[in-house]
Amino acid sequence: MQDNGTYPNTLIDGFGRKVDYIRLSITDRCDFRCVYCMSEDMTFLPRNEVLSLEECARLVKIFVSLGVSKVRITGGEPLVRKNALWLFKEIGQLSGLRELVTTTNGSQLEQQAEALKTAGVRRINISLDSLDAERFRKITRVGDLDKVLRGIAAAKLAGFHNIKLNSVLMKGVNDDEALPLLAFAVDQGIDISFIEEMPLGDVDHTRDSTYVSNEATLKLLQTRYELISSAETTGGPARYWRIPNTNTKVGFISPHSHNFCESCNRVRITCKGELYLCLGQEDKVDLMPLLREFPDDDRPLIEAIIGSMRIKPKGHDFDLKRAAPAVIRFMSHTGG
Ligand code: SAM
Ligand code: SF4
Repeated sequence: MQDNGTYPNTLIDGFGRKVDYIRLSITDRCDFRCVYCMSEDMTFLPRNEVLSLEECARLVKIFVSLGVSKVRITGGEPLVRKNALWLFKEIGQLSGLRELVTTTNGSQLEQQAEALKTAGVRRINISLDSLDAERFRKITRVGDLDKVLRGIAAAKLAGFHNIKLNSVLMKGVNDDEALPLLAFAVDQGIDISFIEEMPLGDVDHTRDSTYVSNEATLKLLQTRYELISSAETTGGPARYWRIPNTNTKVGFISPHSHNFCESCNRVRITCKGELYLCLGQEDKVDLMPLLREFPDDDRPLIEAIIGSMRIKPKGHDFDLKRAAPAVIRFMSHTGG
């Protein structure tokens, strides 16, 4: 607390990095079971261990009052949570918020894209790892490619400021689709980011057996496209390239080959209310007990959030060769 009894409205960590971006996972559940994200047999949290949507709204409001200007709603699959739209609307109305964005697998967009846009969602990331229906089903274990393509069409129609595809390439699984996926993005006039697989959670394969570096992907794309390095940023970890005469930006999120920690501006809140200071480390503060013990007093939460800045680690520590996952938490738990 400051001398005048108020709180500073900025969150600055011990390395001088300003935190102005939160990623909030509103559910660990999902209608897909992507092989790099989940094991075949997942146990999900009981309902009472998950933040209510009202608790989510309260937390976001507090973070925005502390200077956070960008909020990403993620999961699990955020759009399978009942009444998720209510939360989007609540957050969309917060003054002080510059950007409300979401990451989705696209399966519910055909029904929800327009309402999300009306609620104030500016940009939307849609995961797409294959354009081949059978392979798409194999990667997601259950997903229907056509439904996702219809979701992408609905998002385009709704008129989001920006639509970006997220593709995780895996060696021997879909790494031959980098060019077709980029061609699809160019054809649709939308952006695409390639994400290196991260060792989060114990899945059914070893991560180094499927690792594809973004450097190799970039080289492959350059055989067909002219890519011009760009200094643009969307406030996230991606590095971007432009393709002349198209509307498409190509991003690379490379936790292994390019460590993005030095400019990290974000923290993550799990659907259990755990505030993780780094995707790849265990440092966290539990906000759920404070939310429930002090339903009418935000001060303990504010103090815990400001205090957490002291334990934000310098960076992650991903190592593909390690037998055990770097972090036991699945991405669907922490929120991608
Ligand atoms: N269900 C939504 C979706 O798939 O877009 C949102 C949550 S998902 C966890 C967010 C992003 O994380 C997706 O783009 C997904 O491809 C990515 N992801 C999940 N597990 C990953 C992993 N182990 N390594 C890299 N990216 C991963
Ligand atoms: Fe679900 Fe997204 Fe994880 Fe796939 S990546 S299993 S869609 S949470």
